[in-house]
Amino acid sequence: MPAGGLDAILAAFARAAQIIWLPTMNKQTRYTFYARLAELDPNPTTELNYSTPFELLTAVLLSAQATDVGVNKATARLFPVANTPAAILALGQDGLESYIATIGLYRSKAKHLLETCRILIEQHGGEVPRDRESLEALPGVGRKTANVVLNTAFGVPTIAVDTHIFRLGNRTGLAPGKDVRAVEDKLLKVTPAEFMLNAHHWLILHGRYVCKARKPECWRCVVNDVCDYRSKQLTPPPGR
Ligand code: SF4
Repeated sequence: MPAGGLDAILAAFARAAQIIWLPTMNKQTRYTFYARLAELDPNPTTELNYSTPFELLTAVLLSAQATDVGVNKATARLFPVANTPAAILALGQDGLESYIATIGLYRSKAKHLLETCRILIEQHGGEVPRDRESLEALPGVGRKTANVVLNTAFGVPTIAVDTHIFRLGNRTGLAPGKDVRAVEDKLLKVTPAEFMLNAHHWLILHGRYVCKARKPECWRCVVNDVCDYRSKQLTPPPGR
């Protein structure tokens, strides 16, 4: 056998095992997972700045493929000038674009937001509706945005699965699923009732700051003893 041949075979075997091995947690480890995140941050919330349901809807609409920090900078300019459907509609496309031009896809987002404002005024008395069907009928509002608004503005126990939660659900074994809807359905099924309302924010924040996409920081993770990820890095890299 050539030098390194056995190592190469073992590495290939490990990779194959990783592919076919599906992480999964049990009821007790899931409970512990949430309880630890809850202990760390008892009142989690969105990092988007808002003070009304309409401001939250606007911020979430602007946040697709953009950072919360970038959205907050734009809405800090926009909201003091226009923070109601009527006021934003009065800005028009060019006027609205001038406030949000630092955000990716701002032209199409401005178009969607203006159309959303028109519908809110014509069909909902200028208010953000509290039901999923009406929310998802608004331009640019998909299931994820509707879930964020329902949960964060109206206290409905929904879980909006974004890229962080999708990764975390699969990586840790908390809620494996082949697509975001499968992960959402699994989370709704297995999340203990007492954690359901805040689960969305705990998971997003954990994915954003600790269980990062490329280099999860397992060595400082409060759930590393119950997480089912196979490649946990429990020793910090040099200099950390
Ligand atoms: S131990 Fe690592 S993989 Fe598991 S949740 Fe924590 S950071 Fe993520």
